Amino acid sequence: MGENLCVAIVGAGPAGYYTAEALTKGHDDVCVDIIDRLPTPYGLIRAGVAPDHQSIKNVFKRYEATNLQDNVRFVGNLSLGRDITLIELLDLYDAVILATGAAKDRALGIDGENLKGVIGSACFVGWYNSHPDFTHLDPALNIPAVAVIGNGNVAIDVARILAKTPEEMAQTDIAKHAATILEKSAIKDIYILGRRGPLEGSFTPKELAELNNLDRCVALVDPKQLPSEEDLPNDLGGGIKKNLVALRSMSNNKPTDKPVRLHIKFYVRPVTIIGDEEGHVKNILLERTKIIDGKAFGTGEIESLDVGLVVPCIGYKTSPIADVPYNVSKGHFENNLSHIRDHLYCVGWAKRGPTGTIGTNKPDGISVANRILEEVKPSGRLGRVGLDRIIKERDLEIITFHDWKIIEAAEHAAAKNGSPRIKFTEIDDMIHVAHPEG
Ligand code: NAP
Repeated sequence: MGENLCVAIVGAGPAGYYTAEALTKGHDDVCVDIIDRLPTPYGLIRAGVAPDHQSIKNVFKRYEATNLQDNVRFVGNLSLGRDITLIELLDLYDAVILATGAAKDRALGIDGENLKGVIGSACFVGWYNSHPDFTHLDPALNIPAVAVIGNGNVAIDVARILAKTPEEMAQTDIAKHAATILEKSAIKDIYILGRRGPLEGSFTPKELAELNNLDRCVALVDPKQLPSEEDLPNDLGGGIKKNLVALRSMSNNKPTDKPVRLHIKFYVRPVTIIGDEEGHVKNILLERTKIIDGKAFGTGEIESLDVGLVVPCIGYKTSPIADVPYNVSKGHFENNLSHIRDHLYCVGWAKRGPTGTIGTNKPDGISVANRILEEVKPSGRLGRVGLDRIIKERDLEIITFHDWKIIEAAEHAAAKNGSPRIKFTEIDDMIHVAHPEG
């Protein structure tokens, strides 16, 4: 055992897989166990990327190739904290890398955000993507209007999924429970609310332009909120220029064009969410803002919007882990270029916060892998043999990569009408399919 470098990666999402790839490519003497609390690999590729963006999900094939190497193992349904401690992992492996992402919603920090009908994007996206934690969310969509807060790509995803028809979603892998509720949705007005302006939105042009091409929903922008050509700064980036083209086109649309309206409103920040007698959101108070040196400042001018659902899409934070230093304001682990402390590292959103595309995790993974290959030497730790011993002693029901392929095959077999898969939504059902003997 002494010659192999044994590495545990906690979190089987893109950051975990890019790191595993970089650690093992050309290094047969490195053994990697990728541990995940869910029985399914691929993290946000499965549970974050929108169900109608299947082509983006194809990147899983690259992660699968990594998993098919003899020196890489997927160990699913093993939860750090519940089944094994970090200290135990650090005893077993030469290095432990936290690739746990950023699964928690950031708080708005305003009154009313705990009312029924205020659902952060981590929960809402997880719900329509069959994440087992959110299967029973059951949002009430028999409401006329919804506020989606934030001007990032997640806000766009959420608004688009709320706006699309069942036919537009037919060839996706949206959760069945979500499709059923969305089919009966009474929503007629969707508001995407940005606290800054069209030049500051963090959405990307392709995603924004998609909103102008929906079957039953018209995207609307007040032309007065768009800067005139002569007011534009000379150094405007290409992405922002393309966003402006899409927004200008939307500003020519009419509310009567289609039965559902998607209003993109800039320069408003939420200040209070107000509930009815049953504690369910009924309206949201917004303060008009003005931008000074790129920052949004309230003007004191308040407007009210009647909405039955508020979905804050304002970014995520990493779940803290006992004994791992955590930066509360940034919402990720304290680290110095991935290094947390001796033998302990982090990567991806757990390292830098929820920014960038899936591909951003590749250089991140390469960099932490190179660092570990340089500074950590094999120390004769037990690695996977030791992990297997603990799994046996504790009678833990682990999902291997082979088991995952059985789960995946069952999801494909259940698919109909051009949908790529019907995902399981309950962990017990996944385990039962993989281990029918119990
Ligand atoms: P994001 O891009 O950081 O956008 C967050 C938005 O929330 C910003 O508009 C921000 O405004 C706003 N916000 C933050 N705090 C707020 C508050 N207290 N009140 C009102 N607004 C607030 O984050 P995201 O949309 O969650 O996306 C996360 C990452 O995943 C991004 O890198 C994104 O590009 C990526 N992603 C990509 C895709 C895709 O490529 N299709 C899809 C989904 C997600 P300020 O700018 O004023 O702070």
